[in-house]
Amino acid sequence: MINKILIANRGEIALRVLRACKELGIETVAVHSMVDRDLKHVRLADESVCIGPNPSTQSYLNIPSIIAAMEITDSVGVHPGYGFLAENADFAEQVQKSGFTFIGPSADVIRLMGDKVSAIQAMKQAGVPTVPGSDGPLPDDKERCIKIAREIGYPVIIKAAAGGGGRGMRVVHTEAALLNSIQVTKSEAGAAFGDDTVYMEKFLENPRHVEVQILSDGQGNTIHLYDRDCSLQRRHQKVLEEAPAPGVDEDARQAVFESCIKACNEIGYRGAGTFEFLYEDGRYYFIEMNTRIQVEHPVSEMVTGVDLIKEQIRVCAGEKLSIKQEDIKLSGHAFECRINAEDSKTFMPCPGTVQNFHAPGGLGVRVDSHLYSGYKVPANYDSMIAKIITYAETREQALIKMGVALDELVVDGIKTNTPLQQELVKDEGFRAGGVNIHYLEKKLNL
Ligand code: ADP
Repeated sequence: MINKILIANRGEIALRVLRACKELGIETVAVHSMVDRDLKHVRLADESVCIGPNPSTQSYLNIPSIIAAMEITDSVGVHPGYGFLAENADFAEQVQKSGFTFIGPSADVIRLMGDKVSAIQAMKQAGVPTVPGSDGPLPDDKERCIKIAREIGYPVIIKAAAGGGGRGMRVVHTEAALLNSIQVTKSEAGAAFGDDTVYMEKFLENPRHVEVQILSDGQGNTIHLYDRDCSLQRRHQKVLEEAPAPGVDEDARQAVFESCIKACNEIGYRGAGTFEFLYEDGRYYFIEMNTRIQVEHPVSEMVTGVDLIKEQIRVCAGEKLSIKQEDIKLSGHAFECRINAEDSKTFMPCPGTVQNFHAPGGLGVRVDSHLYSGYKVPANYDSMIAKIITYAETREQALIKMGVALDELVVDGIKTNTPLQQELVKDEGFRAGGVNIHYLEKKLNL
């Protein structure tokens, strides 16, 4: 087993990983930028190393600095968290080549899934349902592009193979706009991702975002931990998530779980991973796989009782999966509200000093946050400062609990999106369950 892990991240996820390491008896090394020296996990870690100035390109994205920190501290493994280097195949490769353990899949698998065209091809092969599309990169031949779009049927969406974070996509409603849209998306993709490969998919008009959590040991054993619904999004950013996904077709759901497991075993997946689907009219359409732990993993932990990060560390250290599918019992319902340091109406980031912080509590309430009274939220990074998670026997009860928890939360000194979350838990459409990915933006524009 690994006896020392360097946590290559910050904020709540760094603290979450630190807690898992401590429970496993693994020593921890925190790395941080200059402004982040007072982060909670830095104070709690066995050792800490300042890896550079505040801009993430010079610290949390600085591969040589992080590898050097591993060497200096005699770390054995590195946990990348989410964001930053978590899905950077070159980083995983350098970690491997330097003789360290990357807590995640192999560099090859990250690369395969990081290219959406190759990811879709691998998924199709394993029988995972995908969106009708170009089945590969769009050719240079204009006539063939027009033909492909006609066959798929408008509207279509042009997507960058190397895209991420909701960027590098363009919806096309008519043939007149097609060729120009392909050209613009190509040049944007080339500039943003250094790869101008684009592909085409049918644009689904009113889908939900449903995703499947898996755990795999890379030794032929994979389990699923059911699903999450993350349809409440603004600008492709998730705001409020839940597990399990309410009201999905049970047969289609089971078939999708099976196909995700098959795909993981076929590609030799190792660690925690998520298959993201669009769900419309009882059918699932794979859009991408995330080869890391996700922000919203706690809702799956609450309804399955499995500590995903501890399991992720164990299997990436080379152990066989200790849990079997039969051991996973889905029970109850969980929600997660992302609390951001931002104005609830304008969404402008609102960094600054937290004068007073009080976390909600009680049975079935979990708060994953690095905040403490007096902590200064820096302007340099993502604005998420806390995740409020509630769990209860039924969806309705878990949502009521969330309302109570949000009312209890105190974050004085900075603005947060708590008022928006309070409004969402009372929203009638959301309370009914199963809203689509446009619901929140439509509500906000009213
Ligand atoms: P990224 O890696 O940038 O997050 P995704 O492929 O996951 O890109 O797509 C991001 C979002 O774009 C989806 O959650 C969905 O809202 C929208 N989207 C992507 N593909 C389609 C599609 N074929 N039809 C409708 N919406 C889509």
